[in-house]
This record gives sequence, C-alpha cells and structure tokens, in this order.
Amino acid sequence: MKKLAVCLTLSLAALVPFGQDSKAAANFTDVGTTHRAQAEIYYLVEGGITSGVSETRFVPEQQVTRGQAAAMLGRTLNLNGEQRLTNFKDVGKNNFASGYIKQLVDKKIISGYPDGSFKPDKTLSRGEMAVLIGRTFEYQSSSVSVAASSLMKKGIASGVADGSFGETQTIKRGDFAVFLARSINADFRTADTEKFDHDFYVDTKDGSKLNLRTGPNTSYPSIASIPSGKIVSLAYSVGDWAYITSDNVKGFVHSAYLQGDKPSDKPDPTPPPVVDPTPPPGKKPLSDITVVIDAGHGGWDPGATANGYIEKNLTLNVAKKMEKYYAKVPMKAKMTRTSDTYISLDARGDYASKVKGDIFVSIHINSHTGSSANGTETYYYTRSAAVNPNVSQSKALATYVQNRQLEAWGLTDRGVKIMNLAVLRQNTVPAVLAELGFITNKKDMGIMGTEAGREKMAKGLFLATLDYYYYYENRKDVLPLYSTVNATPSGKLH
Ligand SMILES: [Zn+2]
Repeated sequence: MKKLAVCLTLSLAALVPFGQDSKAAANFTDVGTTHRAQAEIYYLVEGGITSGVSETRFVPEQQVTRGQAAAMLGRTLNLNGEQRLTNFKDVGKNNFASGYIKQLVDKKIISGYPDGSFKPDKTLSRGEMAVLIGRTFEYQSSSVSVAASSLMKKGIASGVADGSFGETQTIKRGDFAVFLARSINADFRTADTEKFDHDFYVDTKDGSKLNLRTGPNTSYPSIASIPSGKIVSLAYSVGDWAYITSDNVKGFVHSAYLQGDKPSDKPDPTPPPVVDPTPPPGKKPLSDITVVIDAGHGGWDPGATANGYIEKNLTLNVAKKMEKYYAKVPMKAKMTRTSDTYISLDARGDYASKVKGDIFVSIHINSHTGSSANGTETYYYTRSAAVNPNVSQSKALATYVQNRQLEAWGLTDRGVKIMNLAVLRQNTVPAVLAELGFITNKKDMGIMGTEAGREKMAKGLFLATLDYYYYYENRKDVLPLYSTVNATPSGKLH
C-alpha cells in the first residue's frame, strides 16, 4: 500500500506544469546572477534542502553551524526531520534540527562530543564539512585528509589560497551550498568523475511512466518520463534516490522503481509454479530437496560495518530475497535466521542437518582496512580433517555460486577459495560461503547498497543452486525450474 501512495504522488506531481508550482521561486537580493554560488543555492532551495533566512535574503557569507549542516544533510537524504528527543544535553526536542541530528547520529554520519554535548550552534570547519559530506554520500572519509582528498578528486571542493584544504577554516553558507549541490548532482562539479556503469530496468509495477527529476526528492521538477521496462544506467545513489541516465538525459529517480530483472508487460508477470517433475531413476524428488540459506552474523554480532552499512542487515536482506525464489519451485529453502538474532557458527551447521538440508549457502560481505579491496569470492573447505566429507560437491557448488555472483553484479572476480571456516567445516552437507563484495569499497556498495542490486544477487544465488543440481547432480528435471525467472542453465563449469 505504501508503494501505491508513492506512485500516486509522483503521477500527480507530473501533471502540474513547471510554471504553476505552488511554491514561489526564491529570489534573494544577496544572491544575484553573478554570485559564485548562485546556481547551487537556488538548486538546493528548489528542493527544500536549504532556505533563505528570509524570503529575500540568503546571507551566503554567514558561517554554517553544526545544527544547520545536520538539517541540510538530513533533508538531502529525505530523513524524517520531525523534532524529537536526542541523547545530547544541548539538543532538546525544540531544537529545529533535533530530528535530523538524531537520525544522522543513528546512521553514524554525525556524532557529538565526549562530554555528551552536540554543540549545535558551533560553526562548522571545512574539515568537518568534508567528513560529513563524505559519510552522507559514502565517499572515502576515514579521516579529514582522506575526506578532503575525496572531495577534491571528485571536483566537489578545491583547496584554499595557500594550497592546503584549509580544514580548520570555518565554512560559509554559500560555500557549503556549492559543495553540497555538487555532491548531490554531478552536473555541478568541476570534473567529470562519475560513470554510469550499472544497468537496471525501470519497473513501475502498474505500467505508468517514471519521472526523471533534477534532484533527489519530489520537489524537483520532472524533466523526462521513462517507460516501465526501459534499461537505465546508474552512477550513484543519494539516500534512496538514484542518479541515472536515460536517452542522454541525467537525473534522479526513486530507487524503488529500479529492478535487476526485466519486468513483464502483463499485470501479473509471475510464471506459474513448476509442478514437481519426475525425478531421474534413483534420485529423490526435487520437492524433497532443501537448500539451507545462512544469513551471516546477527544479533550482537554485526559483522563488518562501514559507511553506515552493517553486514548482518545486508546478509539477512539478501537471504530473505533468495528464499522467495524457492516459493515457485518444488525445492524448499530453510533459513538459519529470519530476524536480527545471534546464532553460533556451530549451530548453523547443526541446523542444516536438523532440517535435513541438502546444500548450505552462507551469505557474507567482505571488508578490508583499506577501501580499495573489492570484488566477489566464494569459499569451500577441503582438508581431510574436515567433519564435512562433501568436498567435491562443495567445490562444484562454490564454482556455480561464484559464476552467478559475477553474472549478477560484474564485480572483480577474486575466485573460488579454500577456507577453513566453522560453517563449512562443521557441516554435514555440501557447504559454501559467498562473500558478495566489500562493505568498505564504494563501487561494491554502489550495487550492494541498493534494493535492486541485492535482488539481482539473490536471484543469482538461487540460479547457482539450480546449476549445481542440473550439472553436478545431473538432474535434467531441474530444467523447468529456470523458467520461473526466465533464465537458462549457466553452462557446465565443474
Ligand atoms: Zn561475514
């Protein structure tokens, strides 16, 4: 129901011609046509991300406070700014930015001081600005200098007169607007550093067209409408909005309407479930096969964390998406966890035997102290000491899992590896562990951080399990199962 409401709002907004926008265009007497930040200030005001101090004055030379910065970044990400209690002694519910401060703290974008204060009225330095923007847009920002260099490389900021970044200098409202607008919309940048290299299908579910907007919220005008089913290319995301290009027009769409799969023209695109085909002689029916899906980490064990992402949440999300694919086929799926709970490594392997599982796929996300490590790898275990005797089965399954992951995302191929891990070793069925990508790498998270990207991966993992049964177990009765997702077998790889 929630999605329907969004659709309605988008279509109604498209009917209002640009000139008749109910909001009067801003006109600041202190930001004239020759002002250095004119285009960027009006761009942010148009999207409601910032506003003047009055209807006629923006005061671009005034310094930015931490509270103001939080409000602007929160609005950029479309966070709920409703004023509320925070944990800071100096940010009461009545502070205009309390809602945004609370949300940005939860997302680990902004933090307070060791004495329990936030200092919302303290002016922001250029260094703090670089780190805040870096965390908001998921740039590399582990320190002030790393964050500053990210902004400079992307053509978002340049140094000050002495050649340094000027990290201790305070930042003015006009300059903050420039940096923020450039971060949101690459068209404002001084360097062309973004590649539109991830393809997705537009899927509006109801056949309506999708508005391509000039900014990442519905206050921005629509400049094109994209038919459902069309392929568009993504460069990066701003919160839940995606910066894409379609027919050489660049702009923003809500990422809920981007899918990894080609949508059908028909209202119900789901093919009918496959009835259990006749098994080959001597083999049990497919309906007796159980795939155990293991979402890595959970509960007090978050796994890897970086840039506001938490491994345990992403792995559970992919696992749940993967589980859904088994609903249309005779094979069954069982999940080691379906919520944010802690399960020991041994218990995961025990679960596989308890539910009479046939194969085990563990889902994880890699991390590294540096941000450049990237790509996809899959593990199995082979040592003779292993409790798990299914070495050749595990290796074949790992090969098909790795292959479908690369097909789904096209990230760097780090290969199939032998790894002594408890969930593989202490298991009684063919078992693999997929490291989908690196939580610490921006390119990997550019895909993994989106619903559409995770859907693609879930489908790939599902297909890998079909490939395993089709080729390794030589079960031709698996063939009709591919039709449920309009796919075909991968090719023999083991
Ligand atoms: Zn992990």
